[in-house]
Amino acid sequence: GCDLKGLLKKNWLLIATIVSVLLGIGLGVVVREYASLSHLEKQYFGFPGDILMRMLKLVILPLIISSMITGVAALDSDVSGKIGLRAVVYYFTTTIIAVILGIALVITIKPGVSQKAENVDRTEITQNVNTVDTLMDIVRNMFPENIVQACFQQHKKMAVGPLKHSTSPVDNITKDYIIVGSYSDGINVLGLIVFCVAFGLVIGKMGERGCILLEFFDALNEATMRLVQIIMCYMPVGILFLIAAKIIEVEDWEIFRKMGMYMVTVLSGLAIHSTVFLPLIYFVIVRKNPYTFALGMNQALVTALMISSSSATLPVTFRCAEENLRIDKRITRFVLPVGATINMDGTALYEAVAAIFIAQINNYDLDVGQIVTISVTATVASIGAAGVPAAGLVTMVIVLTAVGLPANDVTLIVAVDWLLDRFRTMINVLGDAYGAGIVQKLSRWELERMDGTSDVTNPFA
Ligand code: ASP
Repeated sequence: GCDLKGLLKKNWLLIATIVSVLLGIGLGVVVREYASLSHLEKQYFGFPGDILMRMLKLVILPLIISSMITGVAALDSDVSGKIGLRAVVYYFTTTIIAVILGIALVITIKPGVSQKAENVDRTEITQNVNTVDTLMDIVRNMFPENIVQACFQQHKKMAVGPLKHSTSPVDNITKDYIIVGSYSDGINVLGLIVFCVAFGLVIGKMGERGCILLEFFDALNEATMRLVQIIMCYMPVGILFLIAAKIIEVEDWEIFRKMGMYMVTVLSGLAIHSTVFLPLIYFVIVRKNPYTFALGMNQALVTALMISSSSATLPVTFRCAEENLRIDKRITRFVLPVGATINMDGTALYEAVAAIFIAQINNYDLDVGQIVTISVTATVASIGAAGVPAAGLVTMVIVLTAVGLPANDVTLIVAVDWLLDRFRTMINVLGDAYGAGIVQKLSRWELERMDGTSDVTNPFA
């Protein structure tokens, strides 16, 4: 009886979420049609959604710290090394597949060939990012010089300066959050992850005395997840107003028609990757129905679609993976936070498509070498992008400069980015989830062996 009740409750939340998406769209369209709101009134509309975002971001920090430390400490270092390696191989393989798929599609569909660059407004970008800078930034961020500061790095200049007169509602590009180099909303996630892995490894080796710390972080993790559960009750309300506010706010719908083929290319690439390639890999390795798996993640996928941030979706991703799909906590705690930060199939695909689209608009012929360069830099750019809205748009500059395309041309795609961002974030989150399922399957021997031996440092056995 208890299980059925739980199942019903989960479905209620999903139903409520979907209803609120539809209501939000309806409300947005109606208000747009029949009321002319002032700028301030539009902001009021966004307020409940803003609160949802704040609550989700609020739990990211305790969640990442507690899950990474307990995740690593519960495994012996030999096993965690193997799991980490499997995860990285998975991240890398799927990202490359996504990039190749994107390139194949954009070369076949040729969305940019009919367009002329002169038709589209260009704005100035003040600074450039390049591949070496980004790589060095990623490595530098892995070693924060101050662990407290790594939790709230604010108001640092990001690599790409503000657009001078952006016509787009994507205002993130003018924020001074660091988007390149794996910062998420002021949190140096990558640095924290490296620290927590090291800390967890050490705790795992401490025996009895390490148990105190392990217990503490385990309890912290449980408490945080309970908070997440409460936040999820507010989610339908927040989502309703998020989507309504977006619809009210968008100024230029006409642009969708102009950019139609480009958007079709990106969206069909994302669709193929998420319904064919990822499920296929999952099926070949895990031998279970990949679509049932994806269905278990639905709450996280809808959330990602609504808020365009893998980091802020992370709490929901955890809940779906652990509660619905029953993936081993020792795996999720390890694979999901890292995945949300560096594994972005959707972003990688998008970057490759966008770069070649811009080349096509400029009548710029790419040779094979340049296409290879695009696939490499698109991969780097997706790793370097933080899990925040529009991060991929900014790291786009890396790809463009690498093949000699004008970095300013990022502005050609800004106007439709807010929509594509949502879909690529959804695929980013789905990729992380499949990764957890696959790594669990590949690590089943190690996990079973650990369950067999009564290990004092393993509270999850
Ligand atoms: N918004 C995406 C994410 O959070 C990153 C991107 O802009 O591509 O996963």
